[in-house]
Amino acid sequence: MSSKASACPVCGARMIPVLHGFPCKGDWERQKRGEVVLGGCIISATTPDRVCKGDPAHWLRKGTVVEERGGLYL
Ligand SMILES: [Zn+2]
Repeated sequence: MSSKASACPVCGARMIPVLHGFPCKGDWERQKRGEVVLGGCIISATTPDRVCKGDPAHWLRKGTVVEERGGLYL
């Protein structure tokens, strides 16, 4: 998985990676600094890989942009 920062295809804001699995102490610090989002241990078909910093309704999973509110798959 790439750790490169990417821009949101919807609004252009920075996307930050979602960490899966049980978080360690350093992960909580990184989340506080806004570098990552902790996704938790449960990985489902709708678990995002990246979340938009501008609007959390924009998230990416395996390259697909999903807008939760509208249920729109771009
Ligand atoms: Zn966005």
